[in-house]
Amino acid sequence: MTSIAAALRTIQDRIAEATARANRAEGSVALVAVSKTNPIEAVEAALAAGQMLFGENRVQEAAGKFPALRAAHPGMRLHIIGGLQTNKAEDAVAIADVIESLDRPRLAQAIAAGMAKTGRRPDLLVQVNVGDEAQKAGVPRAEADAFLRLTRDELGLPVTGLMCIPPAEGDPRPHFAWLAGLAARHWLSVLSMGMSGDFEAAIMEGATHVRVGSAIFGARAYPT
Ligand SMILES: *Cc1c(COP(=O)(O)O)cnc(C)c1O
Repeated sequence: MTSIAAALRTIQDRIAEATARANRAEGSVALVAVSKTNPIEAVEAALAAGQMLFGENRVQEAAGKFPALRAAHPGMRLHIIGGLQTNKAEDAVAIADVIESLDRPRLAQAIAAGMAKTGRRPDLLVQVNVGDEAQKAGVPRAEADAFLRLTRDELGLPVTGLMCIPPAEGDPRPHFAWLAGLAARHWLSVLSMGMSGDFEAAIMEGATHVRVGSAIFGARAYPT
């Protein structure tokens, strides 16, 4: 077994344990393996171990890695999880199964235009800046309700859920709980929250998707 396969099994076991501890249904939390900065060989090792769902934060990097892999593994799925520039929106629509980083009106417009042009309609998650941190992407908490109304009701975009990255310092659980409440108020079923360091806490608060990178693929050579 490769070290990636072993790490995947460990993470899957921890997800299953946390899901049981939270009294949630077995299999109700999906693992998005965040392969950013890792080479194609690492993704292939994860695929060989049965992992089909991946996350990349840069559209260009994903476009360089995934089309060839997809030809060999038609069931694999890609989530774009990183901050998205407006001029990359169409490329993201063309390649992604889910875009997790919808966070501003101009990006919503660009994604809508990309959908009209390509005929593809990946599901969208609205990223919320739950800590209202100046350096972070995401819709401010206070604007989240209005932004959901704009994107779903006015623009008719396929928004299925929410995503967040809580502040690095402090307890993430109140942030996860707040996002879960927002999702419930808007009848959104997908909650992408929790990374290598805090995915168990996120599962306790209702995460349906956890995004785990370094705990599977090892520490990244450069920060992103
Ligand atoms: C890199 C990244 C992750 C994974 O982070 P790890 O701490 O390596 O698990 C999750 N979500 C987003 C948005 C990321 O950019």
